[in-house]
Amino acid sequence: MAEADTSVRSTCPYCGVGCQIDLKVRNDRIYKVDAPFNIAPNFGRLCSKGRFGVDFVHHPSRLTQPLIRKDLGSKPRQPVGLEGFRPATWDEALDLAADRLAEIVQARGGDAIGTFCSAKATNEDNYIFQKFIRGVIGTNNVDHCARLCHAASVTGLQIAIGSSAMSNSIAEMKDLDMFIVTGSNTTETHPVISTFLREAIVNHGAKMVVVDPREIELCQFAELWLRPTAGTDVAVFQAMAQVIVSENLVDRDFLRERVENFENYRLEISDSTPEWAEAISGVPAADIRTAARLYAQANQAAIYWGMGISQSVHGTDNALSLSNLALLTGNLGKSGSGLNPLRGQNNVQGCSDSGGLPNVFPGYQLVTDDEIRTKFERDWGVLLNPQEGLTTMEMVDAAERGAIQAYFVMGENPMMSEPDLRHARHVMEDLDFILVQDIFLNETGEYADILLPAASFAEKSGTFTNSDRRVQLIRPAVPSPGQARADWEVLCDLAVRVEQRLGRESSAGFSFTSPAEIWDEMARLTPPFQGITYDRLERESGVHWPCPTPDHPGTPYLFTDTFPRGKGQLVSLDYNPSAELPDDEFPFILSTGRVLYHWHGGTMTRRSKLDDIYPEPTVEIHPLDADQLGVQAGDWIQVRSRRGQIRVRTLVTERSPQGMVFIPFHFAEAAANELTMDVRDERAKIPDYKVCAVAVEPLAE
Ligand code: SF4
Repeated sequence: MAEADTSVRSTCPYCGVGCQIDLKVRNDRIYKVDAPFNIAPNFGRLCSKGRFGVDFVHHPSRLTQPLIRKDLGSKPRQPVGLEGFRPATWDEALDLAADRLAEIVQARGGDAIGTFCSAKATNEDNYIFQKFIRGVIGTNNVDHCARLCHAASVTGLQIAIGSSAMSNSIAEMKDLDMFIVTGSNTTETHPVISTFLREAIVNHGAKMVVVDPREIELCQFAELWLRPTAGTDVAVFQAMAQVIVSENLVDRDFLRERVENFENYRLEISDSTPEWAEAISGVPAADIRTAARLYAQANQAAIYWGMGISQSVHGTDNALSLSNLALLTGNLGKSGSGLNPLRGQNNVQGCSDSGGLPNVFPGYQLVTDDEIRTKFERDWGVLLNPQEGLTTMEMVDAAERGAIQAYFVMGENPMMSEPDLRHARHVMEDLDFILVQDIFLNETGEYADILLPAASFAEKSGTFTNSDRRVQLIRPAVPSPGQARADWEVLCDLAVRVEQRLGRESSAGFSFTSPAEIWDEMARLTPPFQGITYDRLERESGVHWPCPTPDHPGTPYLFTDTFPRGKGQLVSLDYNPSAELPDDEFPFILSTGRVLYHWHGGTMTRRSKLDDIYPEPTVEIHPLDADQLGVQAGDWIQVRSRRGQIRVRTLVTERSPQGMVFIPFHFAEAAANELTMDVRDERAKIPDYKVCAVAVEPLAE
């Protein structure tokens, strides 16, 4: 007899909007997804991914048992499918993993191991991950995909104001007077947020300025669309700042009370005129002036940006150019007014908050600060490494020169997300040991020695923190397939086994029985979380951190009185061209990004019915370029860079300007990162995924 239907409240596993969803379950299968109408942040709205894309949970290719590579130890290692692995028990797989990790720690020290935690896993999973890596393995080599999406936003905002979180909540969007959207195709990347932004325009009369080389859908609603040549954003924002200063549109009181370095900045920006920026970016000087006046004269003005700004060799400068605008005009510290990097993955905010970064414990407490480190040492009962760890890309460099011997990758897919994949593959081939924990065998898992099957978001408890810092619960709705286990359980089990091999007394530091217990430990050590408990999340459905005490209401918008660094800092900037520009051999600029129906490396959406809607890799090309190349919509063509080539289907559209092509990065069979280059922003270490030079070539039939 069929079981009664159940409805389980959870949080969407795709993007950083963090929509609340109701999973409708019958016979242990999710058959439908709804959204509650009365709860933030989405108030009943969902996009195609949240509504129709969670069927990946039941896909037959889910990992259901631990697997061990058959040709263990052979080098160079080759990627293998499931046939290249043999099944193992949990004990066998975890014992082998613990043996290998402990051997490396004893022989070379923990810094010989590079680890990747997960912006798709819960806060509790990531807290345990970094506790295990820091407290048992003994290294701070912990990073995750935030490095590859918003590291430049984080770095820039830390310099300017000392905090990298979104200033404002999603709920404030509908009351905006004016906002700038730049480097974010919001209708496809954060669809539900885009509905609130459009509501502000339609219902509240807000004025929007879009700054983007592509004619994204939001342009249809914009008061003004500035179309800079890709990679010239800094010049445009510098010129807007110059207009604001030269026309005395600054907020004098705000500058006096809350900002430093204005006099220097004022002098140094005087030459960055709109005409100067027009010569660099192609944006008409008059439009730059109009945009600057609209922003400076609004009562409530916000800036929203995405990876189009941050994934750049000048990403930190891009973010600083935006913080300069907000500081000059006092558009910070008020409801609706702020700086808002739209975070990508469902829990990329939370993974960083939980200590998934090489320089900080949970709550951005520095690993190099003796007092803070002592606090964690006392609580965890271990001695901790005082050196900052390596970032994602630095771990690749270290592996290449032999300083890193092993990778532990939980719920990430660097073999799709890293730039210049040919180089990344070469590095993986020579590692001594690779441990992967995931829900599917993906392109990274194909290199693993041991694969550990993980439970999906629909099979476990925990919390995700969305882009606006709202901590929300997920709850188990269906059983895990086969022997798959929650990440935190696997990590605790593995940590104890490694401790035993290292001859350490088990410190009881991993004897948790529930994610709620893990949260309580993290909150105890992390001041901004101390007022948040699972009971409270059950009652209130979500709380914005900082929330330092149980009676604190949470903080929907930040910086009311001060910035974490004290005064905000205006930073003078130079314009520098992109690292690789078109030439005769590679005459097009390539930009990469997302489409509505897919998500990042496609691990989940390509195993959902969404893949039927968008099943093939595409390249967006302008009609005049297509004519010149003699290709038509639907033709398969080759796109080639100095690093590799891929075969994609032509999409002829005026969306991308002449001379620029756009390729979504979701398709393993035509991975856009075969083409991109490993050139990084110096401060944030983020690669440039938005500007490199490619050739586009018709293929013979
Ligand atoms: Fe999920 Fe983001 Fe879509 Fe909301 S907007 S349903 S969080 S993918």
